[in-house]
Amino acid sequence: MDAALLIEDVRLTPILIADPPLLNTQGVHQPYTPRLVVEVVTRGGVTGVGETYGDGTYLELAEPLARVLPGRPVSDVNGLFALAEEVCGAARGADERVDAGGLRGAQTADKLRLSVVSGFEVACLDALGKTLGLPVHALLGGKVRDRVEYSAYLFYRWAAHPAAGERDDWGAALDPAGVVAQARRFARDHGFTSFKLKGGVFPPDEEIAAVRALAEAFPGQPLRLDPNGAWSVETSLRVAEELKGVLEYLEDPASGTEAMARVSAGTDLPLATNMCVTTLAELPEAFARDAVQIVLSDHHYWGGLHRTRELAATCRAFGVGLSMHSNTHLGVSLAAMTHVAATVPDLGHACDSHYPWQTEDVLTTRHTFEDGHLTVSEAPGLGVELDRDRLAALHRRWLDDDGTLRSRDDAAAMRQADPGWVAPAVPRW
Ligand SMILES: [Mg+2]
Repeated sequence: MDAALLIEDVRLTPILIADPPLLNTQGVHQPYTPRLVVEVVTRGGVTGVGETYGDGTYLELAEPLARVLPGRPVSDVNGLFALAEEVCGAARGADERVDAGGLRGAQTADKLRLSVVSGFEVACLDALGKTLGLPVHALLGGKVRDRVEYSAYLFYRWAAHPAAGERDDWGAALDPAGVVAQARRFARDHGFTSFKLKGGVFPPDEEIAAVRALAEAFPGQPLRLDPNGAWSVETSLRVAEELKGVLEYLEDPASGTEAMARVSAGTDLPLATNMCVTTLAELPEAFARDAVQIVLSDHHYWGGLHRTRELAATCRAFGVGLSMHSNTHLGVSLAAMTHVAATVPDLGHACDSHYPWQTEDVLTTRHTFEDGHLTVSEAPGLGVELDRDRLAALHRRWLDDDGTLRSRDDAAAMRQADPGWVAPAVPRW
């Protein structure tokens, strides 16, 4: 092993980034959301960067993993998984639910650990690529496309957070006209031609009306609706009937594989998920029952870029489509998403990304969408560079926080406006 590839140091920097008041079925985004920036420094003096969730439960696992990595090669990403099981695995049972799950599906200790490992895996691949002079996509077998398409991620939203926070110039979007105006701005500024609306916020008929308004404004263009499992099977089937021929796919209309399988049996409208298939263990039943036709991969959930490619191969074997899910993230993760998406042959739909909503980044240069696409970088590693002043400022915000924003809680944010709010049980409608 080339000594230059050995890890000398690992730096973890938890940060808080501004997040607009985007609504979902659980509540609303807080003014700031936590992310974790992982840096791996090699003996050769190269620094690789990765990004993942920054909530307290993730930090708890990232810290022991960071301590045991020095002395190991950045090329040993398979070894990373075994090591993570060793140092993070004992604390909790693999299937133990570590939080209510909510928008990310059932949250287990395994899934939590994989989400942590993903940040380290990406940092190792960035460092390896920089050392070898190769882009990350080359380390994954090489790109099969030069550009990756993304969709506009539309949200019902307020003009401003009830509590203090950054205020942007988007204004409120709480009805079909507001949603269409938001979509027009996304199309104008980034060239997106696919549109996804985060639903589960208003009664289904209001969301059907918003999708119909989008279809009228953007005839023939791909549209999706994602109520995060907020509907009953009956409601899901009614919406599917009303929006067949209008939607490209319906995303997680109902909660859980059982309910999704029943919806799927009653409609020809394709169903997508980032909630009922989020781990290998969930996959056999969902595929055997034809509960979903499209899996929305997320390299954070699945444990990184190599594991995302394994998921893609499994989906291909079962004739299940693949696209990409997004949670609030910065440009490091967007670069990682773009590299892995560039290597997956049958990516049949535009990927989701929250990135345009993020006014802050830790990079020296922001990513720019052209015609709704990102060009796959040919620079060594991920092809991004950390802006250390920005990183330090966002870390300072995390340090200054009294702890209330260090773990994302959309229901708590909603209580700022509606003190009696509790995240609704599903099905909500
Ligand atoms: Mg979703």
